This record gives sequence, C-alpha cells and structure tokens, in this order.
Amino acid sequence: MILAADIGGTTCKLGIFDASLKQVERWQIPTDTSREGSGILEAVHMSFKQKLEESGLGYGDCRGIGIGVPGPVDFSTGTVNGAINLNWRAPKKIKHEFERLSGITAVVDNDANLAALGEQAFGAGKGRGDIVMLTLGTGVGGGIIAGHHLVHGTHGSAGEIGHMKVAVGENFKCNCGGTGCLESVASTIGLKNLALKYSGDFESSVLKPHIEDGSLKAITVFKNAEDGDPLSLFLVDKMSFYLGLGTSSLAALTNPSQIIIGGGLSRAGDFLLGRVRAYFEEYAFPPAAEGTEIVPAELGNEAGIYGAAKIVSQYIDHE
Ligand SMILES: [Zn+2]
Repeated sequence: MILAADIGGTTCKLGIFDASLKQVERWQIPTDTSREGSGILEAVHMSFKQKLEESGLGYGDCRGIGIGVPGPVDFSTGTVNGAINLNWRAPKKIKHEFERLSGITAVVDNDANLAALGEQAFGAGKGRGDIVMLTLGTGVGGGIIAGHHLVHGTHGSAGEIGHMKVAVGENFKCNCGGTGCLESVASTIGLKNLALKYSGDFESSVLKPHIEDGSLKAITVFKNAEDGDPLSLFLVDKMSFYLGLGTSSLAALTNPSQIIIGGGLSRAGDFLLGRVRAYFEEYAFPPAAEGTEIVPAELGNEAGIYGAAKIVSQYIDHE
C-alpha cells in the first residue's frame, strides 16, 4: 500500500493506493491550525492508523507516504520553510516528524508540485514526460515536470511560476515582496489589482459597484465578460495576455508537450484558455511551441493526493 496526504489550510485530503497506484480509499479530515498548527501531523497520523486498522492493516503493510504541504519545501530533507495557511511560522521537519510518528518513509513536497505530478501521471498529461502546470486560484501555483520528474531546484523553489516576472509595468506588489509577478495579474488577487487600476478608463460597468466596495469576485468578472461587459472583457483579456506571455517563456525553457491549467479560475474553460492560447502562439519561440497544447486540468482538487502517491513510487525503492 501507498499512503497519500494533501495538507491544506481547511482540510487534509487523505488517500490509500495499492502497489499499482490504483486508489482504494480516500477521505478528508479538518485541519486544526490552532496552537500554531502543532497537532496537524499527529491528526493525519492517527487518521491513517485508524483507517488501516479498519481494513485489518497497519503501517507495516505500507511502502511509504507522500505528503503535500502549502509552502516551500526543501525536497532533500523534507522540511517546509513555513506555511502561512497552516499557521506554521518556522521551518518544520515534516519528513522527520512523520517518520517518527509512523515508522514508515515519508516523501514531502510542495502541494502545487504534487498536483502537477498527479496531472502528469493520471490526468491531463497522462503518459507525457514533459509538462508544466499552473493552478489559478487566489494566487498562482505551479509545477514543472521534465523527463517524468518534478524539477525542485537547489532550495526547492523551482516551479514557482506565480513569481515569474511578466508584468513589471503594472507595478502591483506581490505577496512575495516583489512586483511584476504573474500572480499579481493572473489570479483572483490579480483580477482585483487590474480592476482597481483600469476601471476608471471605462465609463460604466456592472463591475464598478463591486470594485468600489471590495466585493469583486473572479466569477463575476468572467460571467460579465461572457455577457459582453467591456471592462470585464478587458480584464479577462489582460489576464490572458500575461498568461500567454508567461507560458511562452515556459515553453522556451522546458519545451513541454502540455501546459495544464487548473485551479478555480480555470472553470472559465475555453473562454479563458482560448485567449491564453492566442497570446501563447503570438509570443512563443516557434520550435518550442510546436505541438504544445494548452489544456484544462482533469483531476480537480484530487490531483494533490494522486501526485503524493506517485512520488512515493518514484523515490522509495520497490521492495
Ligand atoms: Zn511574487
């Protein structure tokens, strides 16, 4: 058996997979972020222990566990350098702590990286060795897979696609402290930034009351863009332009067969992806872009546990 955990700020998604990576069970538990999230790993451990016992199994029947966390991970040591959503303010040795609790080997990675691996192995990129994934939500997450393996980099910061500098001219401040990041123009936060900056250029728009009282939602922008509201259309086009520009750079770097777009904003479907494709084709280095598809993700919020299971099979030797 292989265990998989995707630890998020609200819930921990947990799964059990067999040796051929077929999912046999999945469930979720709430994430308790009180006391600086000090009980989170223990709760995950206890939930697995109980679920295994219900099937007459134990940790001894498991090859290992893959764990995804929402923060920057040093892959070689399995240490996360803080995770705001989990209330983990200091570096936390996840691999070490979970191995001490369970007695099985743990492989730890960033949640967006594992979502990319899940989509590459079981979803929109199935069977392909080189893909890039972007997750468009509150922010922009990402993962890069080259030759079937995630690219981690020296300190685990590879694949932080949300912090590629594509929009320095807009001058929006990003959560990372920098400006010009893709996340500052191509996420829920990004749409709000763009709306505040450009709404004055439009005489009237159904979005204006939402912009003024701070209640603007991404779904409102997409819905009204589809209905032809000029400001909404402008915002979707601007976001698509930056996504097309960013993905064209990614194509020149890694020449992926597929660029997979997931996350809440990807529900806009071809209305968004079609525009991103058009800009991608305009800017991409032709030999790198040849045959590159821009496609929607397929596994939704289950991608993370699929990737967590996959990474165990890649990094823990078969017994
Ligand atoms: Zn940034």
